[in-house]
Amino acid sequence: MLQIHQFPCLDDNYGFLVHDPETRATATIDTPDAAKIMAEAEARGWRITDIWNTHWHPDHAGGNAAIKAATGAAVTGPGEVARIGQAPDRVVDQGDTVKLGGATARVLNVGGHTLGHIAYVFDAEKTAFVGDALFAMGCGRIFEGTPEQMWASLNRIAALPRDTTLYCAHEYTQANAKFAIYYDPINPDLQARVAEVAKLRAAGKPTVPMTLDIELKTNPFLRAPLLKRSIMKPDATDVEAFAELRERKNNFK
Ligand code: ZN
Ligand code: FE
Repeated sequence: MLQIHQFPCLDDNYGFLVHDPETRATATIDTPDAAKIMAEAEARGWRITDIWNTHWHPDHAGGNAAIKAATGAAVTGPGEVARIGQAPDRVVDQGDTVKLGGATARVLNVGGHTLGHIAYVFDAEKTAFVGDALFAMGCGRIFEGTPEQMWASLNRIAALPRDTTLYCAHEYTQANAKFAIYYDPINPDLQARVAEVAKLRAAGKPTVPMTLDIELKTNPFLRAPLLKRSIMKPDATDVEAFAELRERKNNFK
């Protein structure tokens, strides 16, 4: 059984350490803050053996070199990670599998936020690390890809079992909730979640991880096909509706 330790990093990132107690293999999912991640591992008596990157952005791969230098950890990730210095020892993409001790993760391509963005899915554990592709009630900005690519990526995540636990890389939930409820105001699941999220944040608690089930019920981007009327585009295709919502989110205050 894998152990997952989640902790805040930088302003609004989360760090994740995944530990296999049997073999003592320990992966950090992304490297937002090398010093913080190594301190969190040390406090648990875990030695970081692996770095698994989701995409090249500095708040995800910026600590690779320092952690590798200190621990000798093997770096796994998309080829694009080479853009910020410490290239992966092993480049992976859709269909590849990665081992952490006795556990196996499957790689999904979830490009769009960056072209090479990937997610790691532990099928047996029903756990996925989705980086900046999908957030609680939100999704990543499309910096490098197209709406079509991003929509296909989100649908790859949406096709996982509904009881999958999703770990996303940022605590953006409250801002996402404001946008979601604006475009999906009469959704009772969303109303309940917005209240729940407000309570968690007021208590200083994380809203991550979340289940895919609650995302399918409340995430306006996954629900784009159902929200065409609220963006006044009843005849839009699903991907057009998604693109329009994503664009509106960029300008939403
Ligand atoms: Zn990013
Ligand atoms: Fe990020």
